[in-house]
Amino acid sequence: MIFPCAGACNVGQLANDLTKDMSKKGIGRMACIAAVGSGGMMAINAAKQTKVILAVDGCPVGCAKKILEKNGIVPTVHVLVTDIGMKKTDELSYSEDEMKRMFKLTMDRLKSLE
Ligand code: SF4
Repeated sequence: MIFPCAGACNVGQLANDLTKDMSKKGIGRMACIAAVGSGGMMAINAAKQTKVILAVDGCPVGCAKKILEKNGIVPTVHVLVTDIGMKKTDELSYSEDEMKRMFKLTMDRLKSLE
């Protein structure tokens, strides 16, 4: 299961779109962090029964990771979009190159689990 923070900024939107892309490619399944945050037991129980949980946060505030942890779910892998050197801004856009670099960083982190 992949939980993006989906924040209202460039890095949050990249996190969301990265997750969509991975889900469409069959690399995990996008899941609703808002459902976990609102106490939705279906989402919480599904996450607790999932082997690998990936949290994709836009910035070091780490909202997706914190929401998961507050609900007793420890992410197997946690990545930050700002780790590719992006600066967080109020814009909702990002470049193709930034998306490619974040995809690579995330896949490298997942492969290190093998
Ligand atoms: S982790 Fe950062 S970008 Fe994502 S929702 Fe939280 S504050 Fe916004």
